[in-house]
Amino acid sequence: MTVHEPQPKPVATTCPYCGVGCGVIAGAGGDGRVTIAGDPGHPANRGKLCVKGSTLGETLSLDDRLLHPMMRARSGALERVSWETALDAVAEGFRRAIDTAGPDATAFYLSGQLLTEDYYAANKLMKGFVGTANVDTNSRLCMASSVAGHRRAFGSDTVPGAYEDLDEADLLVLVGSNAAWCHPILWQRMVAAQRERGARIVVIDPRRTATAADADLVLQIQPGADTTLFAGLLVHLAEAGACDSLYLAAHTTGFDEALVRAREIAPTLAATAAATGLTPGDVATFFAWFTETARTVTLYSQGVNQSAQGTDKVSAILNCHLATGRIGRQGMGPFSLTGQPNAMGGREVGGLANMLAAHMGFSGTEVDRVRRFWGAPRMAEREGLKAVQMFDAVAAGTIRAMWVMGTNPAASMPRADAVRAALGGLDLLVVSDNVLSNDTIQSGAHILLPAAAWGEKDGTVTNSERRISRQRPFLPLPGEARPDWWIIAEVAKRLGFAEGFAWPNVASVFREHAALSSFENRGTRDFDIGGLACLSEAQYEDLAPVQWPVRNHTDRGLKRFFAAGGFYTADGRARLVAVAPPALKDLPDANRPFLLNTGRTRDQWHTMTRTGKAPTLGRHAPEPTLAIHPEDAAAAGLADGAMARVATAHGTAVLRLAIDPGQRRGEIFAPIHWTGETTAAARVGALVQAATDPFSGQPELKATAASLAPVPVA
Ligand code: SF4
Repeated sequence: MTVHEPQPKPVATTCPYCGVGCGVIAGAGGDGRVTIAGDPGHPANRGKLCVKGSTLGETLSLDDRLLHPMMRARSGALERVSWETALDAVAEGFRRAIDTAGPDATAFYLSGQLLTEDYYAANKLMKGFVGTANVDTNSRLCMASSVAGHRRAFGSDTVPGAYEDLDEADLLVLVGSNAAWCHPILWQRMVAAQRERGARIVVIDPRRTATAADADLVLQIQPGADTTLFAGLLVHLAEAGACDSLYLAAHTTGFDEALVRAREIAPTLAATAAATGLTPGDVATFFAWFTETARTVTLYSQGVNQSAQGTDKVSAILNCHLATGRIGRQGMGPFSLTGQPNAMGGREVGGLANMLAAHMGFSGTEVDRVRRFWGAPRMAEREGLKAVQMFDAVAAGTIRAMWVMGTNPAASMPRADAVRAALGGLDLLVVSDNVLSNDTIQSGAHILLPAAAWGEKDGTVTNSERRISRQRPFLPLPGEARPDWWIIAEVAKRLGFAEGFAWPNVASVFREHAALSSFENRGTRDFDIGGLACLSEAQYEDLAPVQWPVRNHTDRGLKRFFAAGGFYTADGRARLVAVAPPALKDLPDANRPFLLNTGRTRDQWHTMTRTGKAPTLGRHAPEPTLAIHPEDAAAAGLADGAMARVATAHGTAVLRLAIDPGQRRGEIFAPIHWTGETTAAARVGALVQAATDPFSGQPELKATAASLAPVPVA
């Protein structure tokens, strides 16, 4: 195993995995290896780390690292080239696509693993200088429905509360969230609130997960029925006289319309129970607890977001909190849990194709503001293609040049086999990454650019509670690896945009981003970190974790929004939304009798390029398994541990069965992490349909009709 020498002094940085955003202290052990400990001074984790965070030291080898720029030769082999050659070739390839087919023939596909400064540079180059908004991110698969729900209700993409609300709530409702595995340090805070203060925990999920094991009430809901449950709750709150009429009158619109629609979807408690697959008693208990408990936090994650009706699911939850005025107050509020370490930071700088920069959209005023600030010669003036649309455009040949940074769409996008084939037809596919073993590289990438990895990167990330933290380097850059923002700036200069990208260091990128966000430049105060725009290099280096907004240099951040209204809609009022009735896009039938759900395991992350290196993490689940209810397995003649072929309309995978009484009948679950590089048969992304939410563009990753057949032992 190859390792690189760490710095001798401990460095405070941030974990590169989930959106909890835990602080990490990285130091040098006596044997020259890196030591990892939780940062006791970081408000997100107060010194604790989960198993993924605490084993980060096992993931730092240079094995499989992409250390030098590479280009594909005529023979098809990848060959080492100089940075000059690679950067010139990237610029030339993009210029050729723009000249022959226009800016919209190019696209960037980014990642919630990138730092805010990297995201900012990529977004600026494409939306301000190339002139296309075809900039999207794997965060589209993570929390786009929460963004759309927030913007629709609040007029801004604002998480109203803080992690402290979990410590102070008396009722914690988790919807579509296996927090015990996916946000473990926050889950520990919730369990502490339960054990030390008597807070109740309700878990709403089609699967009986590890999170359910500690819950006071488990609602094993029918897939897709979350909207019905929360519509039923809104009806119950109205009939019980539990709505906050003063808050509704002073700070909201749309309640009457939302309630009329809720009554159509879930007219009675009995109807709600029947439509959600729950018992009337359990529904009544949940409704009673929610009604009687002022300090309620509702947390939601991928089970809500990753849906073709994800935005309406979010709205149905927000409606109940707005109707009771339980928002932005101590221990109360809706709370979107972001999946990735910098999903929030990407949202801030326009990493989504429907956002411009600094949380601005594409209104004429906003486009003009950004154009002026950037001195942009060729502004994108309309939204670009969201992830699924973007890869459809690659398949259709309308996108000719694409740059993928820090993600692996050939494995993780819905219909991954089709995406992999489409990538192989591009005129130019550039991949910036840390690793060589990556399905997207194998799909025929023409140019590989070695990017800095965690421990080498320098910049900022924002976690689920809007807290900006520094990721600081504690390892030297290996080989010829470079920071992503630097690589992007070098390509920008070669495209003739030297002036807009002449940043001397990462702090200057951050200052520019912060200045664009200020009230002076944006015109609204929701996302305003203008107070950080004047940080010196030393102040940026020492920046302590802070929740945005940071509106001036003495501001220490804002914990909560909206307790007294002040929404960012045109009239300052929140909107309750009349949501659509639930309807799954892909229903099981005689040929495909199962509904396939996909998600994470406890100890792996994405496609395992980092966690796959840690022996400790590999012990929890050494291989991918397909969870199935025991009666379904028996009916199919399949035993625990047998190999089975899962087939959908889009692809097939072979997985080992794991009998799991926590599955509902007719539903199966597969983990997303294993890829074609590790287990040829287990590319779960290839199975998933590509239906998307009409508002957020987020794909339905939780419900694809599937068949199951035994695989004969050879
Ligand atoms: Fe890292 Fe998330 Fe674990 Fe914290 S909870 S240590 S951020 S993986």
